[in-house]
Amino acid sequence: MERFRCGGLEILFMKGDITEVEADAIVNAANKYLQHGGGVAGAIVRRGGQVIQEESDRIIRERGPLEVGDAVKTTAGRLRAKWVIHTVGPIKGEGDEESKIYRAVRNSLLLAKSEGLESIAFPAISTGVYRVEPEVSARGMIRAVKDFSRDPGSVKRVIFVLYTDDIYRVFLEEASRQLSQC
Ligand code: ADP
Repeated sequence: MERFRCGGLEILFMKGDITEVEADAIVNAANKYLQHGGGVAGAIVRRGGQVIQEESDRIIRERGPLEVGDAVKTTAGRLRAKWVIHTVGPIKGEGDEESKIYRAVRNSLLLAKSEGLESIAFPAISTGVYRVEPEVSARGMIRAVKDFSRDPGSVKRVIFVLYTDDIYRVFLEEASRQLSQC
């Protein structure tokens, strides 16, 4: 586990399973239809319960599919987190992946702030099924957190929960580049 301070934020990097993390919200790397089948989405619903899928289905019925970069929230069922924030990252090859990841993270953070949350945990958006290079995801995600740290409102802690050794290492390298002089 590594810890950085930036503006009003504490930013933590840990290896692990995000479904086990205790935070006000955990973020899901979702698809536009909020159909939580595989990857981190599948793990969140298996562990948190079908209520997360049911609330997601209701959101899609009411507003239609999400756009890349959108963020919406559901309850978290049996998870230790209180809320799940679902955001949609880009698929490799669609273009502007880094700035789309930036927007997904920024919108997730703004939603947490507007709900008065203190802590939020993120997986490495788009680095699984969506095949974006971990370096690209790390650049966009960390830049979004760094920019948000200037006006974080209620948010005090952001936790990156990285599932593999390789991705953990990539995120830490990018963190030392961007967050050392914060
Ligand atoms: P995407 O479709 O955005 O690529 P994935 O869920 O396929 O989303 O993968 C995103 C990242 O989440 C990958 O790095 C994957 O290894 C990681 N991941 C999968 N399961 C978990 C989990 N339980 N906790 C944290 N990260 C996870």
